[in-house]
Amino acid sequence: MDVPHESSLPAGLRWINRYATLDEVFYTRVRPQGLPEPRWVATSDAAAQALGWPTDWWANAEALAVFSGHALWPGMDALATVYSGHQFGVWAGQLGDGRAVWLGELLTPHGSMEVQLKGSGKTPYSRMGDGRAVLRSSIREFLCSEAMHALGLPTTRALCLVASPLPVLRETVETAAIVTRLAPSFVRFGHFEHFCHHGQPQALRRLADFVIDHHLPECRDQPHPYAALLETVVRRTAELVAQWQAVGFCHGVLNTDNMSILGLTIDYGPFGFLDAYDPAHICNHSDTQGRYSYHRQPQIALWNLHALAQALMPLIEDTDLALAALETFRSVYPQAWMRLMRAKLGLRSQEEGDAELIDDWLSLLARDRVDHTLAWRRLGRFSVDATDGAGPVRELFTDRQAFEAWASRYRQRLLRESSHDAERRAAMDRVNPKYILRNHLAEIAIRKAQAGDDDEVRRLLRVLQRPYDEQPEHEAYAALPPEWAQSIEVSCSS
Ligand code: AMP
Ligand code: MG
Repeated sequence: MDVPHESSLPAGLRWINRYATLDEVFYTRVRPQGLPEPRWVATSDAAAQALGWPTDWWANAEALAVFSGHALWPGMDALATVYSGHQFGVWAGQLGDGRAVWLGELLTPHGSMEVQLKGSGKTPYSRMGDGRAVLRSSIREFLCSEAMHALGLPTTRALCLVASPLPVLRETVETAAIVTRLAPSFVRFGHFEHFCHHGQPQALRRLADFVIDHHLPECRDQPHPYAALLETVVRRTAELVAQWQAVGFCHGVLNTDNMSILGLTIDYGPFGFLDAYDPAHICNHSDTQGRYSYHRQPQIALWNLHALAQALMPLIEDTDLALAALETFRSVYPQAWMRLMRAKLGLRSQEEGDAELIDDWLSLLARDRVDHTLAWRRLGRFSVDATDGAGPVRELFTDRQAFEAWASRYRQRLLRESSHDAERRAAMDRVNPKYILRNHLAEIAIRKAQAGDDDEVRRLLRVLQRPYDEQPEHEAYAALPPEWAQSIEVSCSS
């Protein structure tokens, strides 16, 4: 990226910093620790747009200093927040922003947005950590945040990525980076757990009121606002996880401190998208028990919601109300999942046998280990005209007979709703992505950036920002993973 020219930022950024108006039980004021010799790796134009910034905002003379942790703009109020959480099902006690620094909250044309550096050095919550993030995991977080947004999933965003030659010790010596993240709120389930488990009911109430007043005001009008808060989080989380399952996204570390109170995907670490469809797929190499495997994500989300409910009990007071709110998951999740699956199959109407049709399709994918993304995308090329055959989707299956048996049921189902091939294909292409952030694509971009060439990160970002479009010039990014991809191990180390 070129040398900065004159300031390109809109004058008078409006920092409202509402979290900083809470008292200091909730955070500690800190200074980010700047990265030496920073360089821009990439910026997201789409994220800049969300802030109402011009796409060349990064050319502002001070931008690199701010987003590499060396300087603060007037109006920023840097702090690290405290939270706790359950990690791998076990109470972990106090955690907190150990390597993230909250810079402030901006008023944008699209609402308020908090800005946070990740990897900007130690804070009072760093425990044994160094407060840094490596370039490898920062590229993954940067790309996946923006890819998920483009796919239409609720997520924290990534504004920019800065790298440095600063050595950072993990399994090997790597180098440091900072991702700047954006979200309407970074409050996690773990923030509530913290104040409940540390016997601070007033702070707990203050935080719940803060979240309701600033982010979920509709809860205030309900007869039991705190129960309504829980139910809203249950609904949002259920919708979110249904979308993860539909797109084949595995989070990898669904600890309660990695769960957003707004139902956003947050904390991209050892995540992964499914390649071959395997319901029991474990994307996190450190997850030896498979607690966070793909098919367990809905039940784990519900487990985490129970932990949140427990933390909110001093406010809700009535067990039946809390249980009723949790119970919502059992209807919202399957309904959302069915809605998404019907859309993925290109079905407009609802029939009783749909659940079976979907289950059998997924069983076929699992049995032949068919690539999840490719299968759904190619299913969009299916024709109701039997003489046309099933098209390129058929070629993905080893057991052709089993596929044909299923295909004839699918064809009958489509005929019953007078489905039109071209219309259905267009609709299916809007929900079955062609481009996802496969591990090997991230890995190629990482290796190049580690050698000082950031072009691939930017190219990949552009491809992933249009996941549903045919991009004939980028066909290679939609291909099956190469053989060597199987040796990529993604772990908690970041
Ligand atoms: P994570 O597994 O990334 O969700 O992090 C769990 C907790 O450990 C959070 O409180 C993080 O802030 C903290 N943490 C993770 N890595 C580091 C690090 N390198 N330095 C300081 N704190 C860290
Ligand atoms: Mg985390």
